[in-house]
Amino acid sequence: MILVLAEQRGGRLNRASWEVIAAAQQLADGDTISVVLPGGDLSAAGQELASAAVTEVVLLQHAALEPYTPDGFVQALHAFVQQAEPSLVLLAHTYQTRDFAPALAARLGRSLITDCVGVREQGGARAFTRPMFQGKLAADVVPLGPTPHLVSFQIGTYRADQAARGNAAVRVAEAALDPARIRQQPEAPFQEARQAVDLSQAERIVAVGRGIKNQESIALAEKLATALGAELAASRPICDAGWLPMERQIGSSGQTVAPKLYVAIGISGAIQHVVGMKGARTIVAINKDSEAPIFEVADYGIVADLFEVLPALTSALQE
Ligand SMILES: Cc1cc2nc3c(=O)[nH]c(=O)nc-3n(C[C@H](O)[C@H](O)[C@H](O)COP(=O)(O)OP(=O)(O)OC[C@H]3O[C@@H](n4cnc5c(N)ncnc54)[C@H](O)[C@@H]3O)c2cc1C
Repeated sequence: MILVLAEQRGGRLNRASWEVIAAAQQLADGDTISVVLPGGDLSAAGQELASAAVTEVVLLQHAALEPYTPDGFVQALHAFVQQAEPSLVLLAHTYQTRDFAPALAARLGRSLITDCVGVREQGGARAFTRPMFQGKLAADVVPLGPTPHLVSFQIGTYRADQAARGNAAVRVAEAALDPARIRQQPEAPFQEARQAVDLSQAERIVAVGRGIKNQESIALAEKLATALGAELAASRPICDAGWLPMERQIGSSGQTVAPKLYVAIGISGAIQHVVGMKGARTIVAINKDSEAPIFEVADYGIVADLFEVLPALTSALQE
């Protein structure tokens, strides 16, 4: 049995849970799939999950699971996984997963492979591909030791809309946990910045990376974006530096987009960036390094200095 650990916050299902359901369906090969959703009030999220083509949905309830604490989740899921005896436990690589999954794996004494971006057959075993050294290497990792093995998938690795729909049996189970053994007292959850721009709806995107060198030069990309009628976006270092707002970041920790046209300027093509834009219909990359990984996903590549190409492109478009 493959067990999917779904995630909700305030009763709302995390969309990434559907991605993991899609992953489980692709890996199942006749195996049964169970989805477990831990929390307090799970009725709405449970109803949504009931439309998944899986064997069973378990709503693992306990008042002490709301609000989320790593201790509460580890206790409840440790007991649940031990009793369910799955061969594989799949999770979305969310912040919550980063928080409790290592402790859960340690408590179970089982292997955990995090942030995977794919699965391959390797000598009859499943190898999980995960980026290493900030995406410079992709390692195929085969879990060792007794099952269940725990695996988390990077957001965007599987598509939520590819999860097959059906009619799952939903069962409510009382989580086995002792609230007195929860050591954390959570504060009010962090409020993510309201997104002023919804890049997922943009038809054309011009994205800048570290190759742009300084904040002033972003104006060059902005002019190209205006000439194309495109939205401006960026790789993470640009947003980390505060040169563009966070809501314009594309990638695993930013937005996932699928425009008709994506122009990547001075972006190397790290996996964390590529997962956010590989769904674009046409990708144009401008980079002075012909070996940059962005060219592997680009439909058109311009190997040149962006400071020469951008003004030329913009003026050609303006004409
Ligand atoms: C947990 C985690 C989450 C992450 N999430 C994200 C995310 O959501 N989004 C994201 O983008 N990154 C993310 N990253 C970071 C990611 O790994 C890369 O570090 C980042 O994408 C690199 O950004 P870049 O391509 O702009 O910079 P670099 O990798 O430094 O690339 C700059 C490129 O510009 C080119 N260049 C330089 N000068 C010129 C010039 N004059 N003309 C043309 N080309 C030039 C260079 O050849 C190089 O290829 C994440 C990393 C981690 C560990």
